[in-house]
Amino acid sequence: MSRVELKSVCRRFGAHAAVDGVTLVAEPGQFVALLGPSGCGKSTTLRLLAGLEPCDGGSILIDGVDRTHAPPADRGVAMVFQNYALFPHLSVADNIVFGLTVRRVPAAERQRRLARAAELLGLGPYLDRKPSQLSGGQRQRVALGRAIVAEAPVCLMDEPLSNLDAQLRQQMRAEIRELQQRLGITMLYVTHDQTEAMTMADKVVLMRAGKVEQQGSPQDLYGRPQSSFVAGFIGSPAMNLFSAALLQQGDPDMLVGVRPEDLGLDTNAPKLQARVVTVEYLGAESLVICEVGETTTAGQTADLSGARGPQRLVLRTGALHNPPKRGEAIGLTWHADAVHLFNPLDGQRINSPPLPMPGP
Ligand code: ATP
Repeated sequence: MSRVELKSVCRRFGAHAAVDGVTLVAEPGQFVALLGPSGCGKSTTLRLLAGLEPCDGGSILIDGVDRTHAPPADRGVAMVFQNYALFPHLSVADNIVFGLTVRRVPAAERQRRLARAAELLGLGPYLDRKPSQLSGGQRQRVALGRAIVAEAPVCLMDEPLSNLDAQLRQQMRAEIRELQQRLGITMLYVTHDQTEAMTMADKVVLMRAGKVEQQGSPQDLYGRPQSSFVAGFIGSPAMNLFSAALLQQGDPDMLVGVRPEDLGLDTNAPKLQARVVTVEYLGAESLVICEVGETTTAGQTADLSGARGPQRLVLRTGALHNPPKRGEAIGLTWHADAVHLFNPLDGQRINSPPLPMPGP
């Protein structure tokens, strides 16, 4: 098992800082997900780690040894890309051991590693087939097989499941996670899919514009987002964010965040009055989409900086037998502990006490 550390790593393309001082640690055997919107620098960070891009600043340590400028082959990392290129003319077996053949690993050793990878990945029956005779998921497993036979203590994966359908993706998520744990691999895994990051990782590193916005366990990021960006990115449906001015109490210059599952219906002493826009029935639960704030013309966009204009909020609740109708007035409430407060100017979390409970 290996420890991976990035210290203030930078990569510029012309004037653009694609990776801008990224510092992170993957402890031995840890699964670290690099998460963030398109273009935030996830793939570049991974490529810097693999040695496929040169660093413009900072350092990369693997097991305490400075590998910032080491060639890729000397870093002890295996990599699986989104567009894993399998050789169409080679069999599954030859595709899996291709890297070993190039490195002149003896045939007996190749065979041993191939047999183990095939067993782990359930590819035994397909070893003689060509990639074109496999399903997408099976091809994906061949790409994983290549990383496994490398027997590298560190594995880097860049959106390895993005070409698969939803069901297969879910299955492969569990398989990769199990394999990673079983083999004790230190994993750095790039994804823009927060569900993937939250379900697979021990640690999530959320990036934004080349920088780390927050890193921690999935529970940390969900339960205590350090900025309104994190609050809005982690969680589906996203956290409700609205101006405190809507509450007509406390400091109006704050952004209030309440997760959809922390909103409740209250007819007696609601904290906010809302109008129902629609109710989405999802079987085990329902989402009540509602609007708060002044009624204005339909289609007006939410205004987070002030109380004017309607804002959409989502309430997640158990299956509703008598769901409210469109246009119906409802009262919303929440527990004081469920409130997250942010500075509307820089988006940073404000560590003030929870908002006071409303008076009668
Ligand atoms: P995605 O999820 O869309 O793949 P990402 O978070 O992985 O995005 P990167 O691929 O790391 O983002 O790119 C970060 C930024 O650097 C982007 O603005 C991208 O356009 C830019 N970039 C990446 N590679 C190059 C390159 N070779 N030359 C110039 N700009 C680049």
